[in-house]
Amino acid sequence: MKQVIVGHPEGEVQVKRFYMNCPTIVVECPGCGSKLAYDFDEQYLSYPEIGVKEHIGFYCDKCSEADAECVEYTVPVLIKDISVTLEYDPDEVKPEL
Ligand SMILES: [Zn+2]
Repeated sequence: MKQVIVGHPEGEVQVKRFYMNCPTIVVECPGCGSKLAYDFDEQYLSYPEIGVKEHIGFYCDKCSEADAECVEYTVPVLIKDISVTLEYDPDEVKPEL
């Protein structure tokens, strides 16, 4: 019978490119009001650390076109939890070849 266990890593997760396949973060540009998006399908966290804020970067094309003073912004994102779910079947134990 299959078993499921869930783990919650603590501290820094030793993954250089941690893709999350989760919803996009959308914020409003403080300069022009445009919607700025951070898409976790294409971008990643590098060595995420549980309980630590990471600064996610946004670039505003509209402010860049207008030659504004600031075109790059960040928003702090707290990494609250990362979970890993494993499934296995104890009846599938086999000798290693
Ligand atoms: Zn802008």
